[in-house]
Amino acid sequence: MERDASVLCETDAITTGLIREALELGATDAAVISADQIVVDKSLADKCRTPKCMNYGLSKSCPPHVAGPAAFKNLLEAFSLAIVFKIEVPSEVLYSGQNLELFQLLHETAAGIEQAAVRMGFSGARAYAGNSCKKVFCSDYLECRALEGDGQCRNPDRARPSMSGFGVNVAKLYAAAGWERKGVTHETDSGSIRMDSICGLVLIC
Ligand code: SF4
Repeated sequence: MERDASVLCETDAITTGLIREALELGATDAAVISADQIVVDKSLADKCRTPKCMNYGLSKSCPPHVAGPAAFKNLLEAFSLAIVFKIEVPSEVLYSGQNLELFQLLHETAAGIEQAAVRMGFSGARAYAGNSCKKVFCSDYLECRALEGDGQCRNPDRARPSMSGFGVNVAKLYAAAGWERKGVTHETDSGSIRMDSICGLVLIC
C-alpha cells in the first residue's frame, strides 16, 4: 500500500532507519540534510567535459547522457530531504589504481539506501554516487549496455549516476552534513595513516 510520504518525512524514525541502513551497508557516517542545502554549480559539471574526463560519454550515467545541472535543480524542487553519506578510506588506497572496490561500495551503498527508502514508501527516492559506473562496473566491456545494447543497465541494483554530471557541490554537502572535508591523519601502533573520504547522496522525499 502506498504510504503518505509527506507525513512520514516528518518522522525521525524514517531518517534514523535510513541512516542505520547506510552504516550497515558500509558508510562511515551519514546525515540527514534539507534538500535546499544541496548546491548545484554548472561549472562543476562542465569539468566532466573540459578537460575531458576519460569516462566522458561512455555510460548512460555520465554526461552528456544525463539531464545535467539545470534539470537536477528542477528535480530538487520536488524534494525536501536527503541523506548524505561518506566512506572514509586510507588516502593511499583512494588515490591508487586499486580503488575500484571502494567505488563499487560507494555505488552499492547509495543504491541500497535508495532501495530501503523505496521499501519505506518513498518510491521517488533517487541515489547518486561518484566516479563513472562504466569504469567501476563495466570496465571489462567495450560498451555501456544501457547506451549501446538492449537499453538495460547490467547493474541496475548497484550502479548509480555520478553527482559530478549534475554539478553537485560536494564541499557544500560536507558542510551541510557538518563534516570536515579535508583528510585526517590517524596514529596507529604501526605509524600514521592518512584518511580521506568519498560521499554519495540520496534524495528521499
Ligand atoms: S551498463 Fe554498465 S556502464 Fe552502462 S549504465 Fe549500467 S553499470 Fe553503467
